[in-house]
Order: sequence, then C-alpha cells, then structure tokens
Amino acid sequence: MRMRILISNDDGIYAPGIMALYQAVRDLGEISVVAPHAEQSAVGHAITISDPIKIKTIQREGDFEGYAVVGTPADCVKLAVSVLLDKPPDLIISGINLGPNAGISVIYSGTVSAATEGTILGIPSMAISVDAFTNPLWDTAGQVARRLAQELLQRGLPPDTLLNVNVPNRPMDQIRGFAVTRMGRSRFAEIFHRRITPRGDTYYWLDGELQMLGDLKGTDFQALAEGYVSLTPIGFDLTRHACLPELKQWNLAL
Ligand code: MN
Repeated sequence: MRMRILISNDDGIYAPGIMALYQAVRDLGEISVVAPHAEQSAVGHAITISDPIKIKTIQREGDFEGYAVVGTPADCVKLAVSVLLDKPPDLIISGINLGPNAGISVIYSGTVSAATEGTILGIPSMAISVDAFTNPLWDTAGQVARRLAQELLQRGLPPDTLLNVNVPNRPMDQIRGFAVTRMGRSRFAEIFHRRITPRGDTYYWLDGELQMLGDLKGTDFQALAEGYVSLTPIGFDLTRHACLPELKQWNLAL
C-alpha cells in the first residue's frame, strides 16, 4: 500500500525549506503539499473564521504541485484533511522551518501548529525545524526528515502527541545522533523598535531575544548546542494537573 504524506509549513509554499522537505521524502509515498501562500511564521494555532479561505494550485519549478492557501498553517491542515485530499494522510510533516522551534517558541510557532492540528485530527504528525536563520543546511535537515518519516510511517505516534524535531545546522557527518528531549524553559525579552512613518505617526516593530531559563539539562536547547537532533514529544493538554489539588483546596463558594 502506498503511504500518503501531507506536507505543510509556516514559511509559505514558496519557501526553500518546504522544497527541501518535499525532495527528501518524495519517494516514500504519495505526497500532497498544502501550505500558506505567504509566510505565516509565529501565527501560532490561529484559524481563519471571519474571512474566506482562498486556495490556488501552484507549480514549483516543475517539481511539485500544491495548494497555496490564503490562511494559516492550521487552516491548511484542516482544509487538506477535510476537503482537498481524497483520503486522510498517514503522516503529516510541517517544515522544514527556517529557525529553531525550541523552548517557548513552540507556543508561537505556526510550524508546530500545523503538526498540532494533524494530531488533533488523529494523524501522526511531526514538525521539523533547522537551527539557523541564515545559511541553513537543508540537506542535513532533509535527511533527518526522511529518516524520521520512515520511522513514523512504521510506528505512528502515541495518541495526542506530536513530534517536534529540531536539527542542528551542521553537515550530516557532524550530527552526533538523536536526543529525546523536553521543551526548555525560556521566554522572549521583547524589543519593540519605535519608529515614525513619513506622515509622522508612531509605530512599533517587535523584535525579541530568546532567554533560556532554569536547568538546560535534557532540553531541546541542550541537544542542539551539543549537535544532537532534538526530538520532543509535545501534547496540548495545557492543564497543570499538579495544581488541581491546590486549587480545589480553595473551596470557593458563591
Ligand atoms: Mn517559520
């Protein structure tokens, strides 16, 4: 049976990373590409409900055909699975993202959200990102994507769990292996650049600096720093179960 793989991303259907991913896994099965028509980085799990979601079939360099969607990564996966594909895919891969999605970035990431949406729909899903914003080594990340895709097509994933993959930006022979990690604690230190339009109005442009917090041992950050491909199982039950007893002890009454 020929496996079906759905590819999406948040850098847009014309991004180099999605082409690298497509080329790396194309012979593993029947590949469909449904991705935002333009960059949607850091849109998180947003979906489009107040506007129409336009789609267009596109061709990239005579290589792949896909649907460019005027929407978010989560829209792309919902639309693909609900209406664009004949049958649900066996695997969803989101990426390859330009820039890491480690630590708190997971919350903001459109790349991860495409995989989250796939997981909500009950389909094994992974997000994959390269740990660089400049001079990304797509070949390494592509080989890692391929290796993991083969594994996931065989094994699947536990329910309600997606695989968040971050690949060090190194040549393949300098990758030390796979590390199973937890999401590192971190936050962004906001830097709002204040600027003035030619008409004299003020605007702000958000930039930020990721600050790592707490113990780095066992985290995605540490794996990347040491040259390992980081594999983090991610769930979306945001309940702090450990805090339930304390909250119940409040014994609130009206
Ligand atoms: Mn992105």
